[in-house]
Amino acid sequence: MRTVFLDRDGVLNRKAPEGEYVSRWDLFHPLPGVADALRMLREAGLRVYVVTNQRGVALGLYGMEDVEALHARMSSELESHGARIDGFFVCPHDRDACTCRKPGVGLFEQARALHPEIAWETSVMVGDSISDVEAGARLGMRTIFIDGDPETQKPGAAEARARAGLFCTSLLEAASFLMDSKRGE
Ligand SMILES: [Mg+2]
Ligand SMILES: [Zn+2]
Repeated sequence: MRTVFLDRDGVLNRKAPEGEYVSRWDLFHPLPGVADALRMLREAGLRVYVVTNQRGVALGLYGMEDVEALHARMSSELESHGARIDGFFVCPHDRDACTCRKPGVGLFEQARALHPEIAWETSVMVGDSISDVEAGARLGMRTIFIDGDPETQKPGAAEARARAGLFCTSLLEAASFLMDSKRGE
């Protein structure tokens, strides 16, 4: 395993209730263990890319500059913990308007265009919704489903749990699993 694709909301930070969006730093609540998980992945030499649907941009609720500012702040906070995200790929479009909104695979293709060393067979997709699991599966990647807070979980969680290669309750648990399987490579 060389590359880890991560969904953002519900994996790195607490997902907002349906219809609400994490558009600013004060709405960004990191989930427990995330910095430790990212540091482990980095120390093991894995590249980590975030792939996130941000339909709130298409709805005019916030702009790409807000998304970028949030990611810059996130990166600098992570850096102070010895952790890092190697790139962010964002779909700002509405439903049925593009090929990058997950479960489309456009964001992954964008990542590979920039980083040609990415290979799907040595990549894993970690997400908390069925669209994450579907996108990863379409490319033949391994998939890990993060079982979210039942309060804010989107429909399709049961299917996602069943279809994913593995399900975990946190990114830290997923990272520990990846470390174990990497040691066995
Ligand atoms: Mg999510
Ligand atoms: Zn898109």
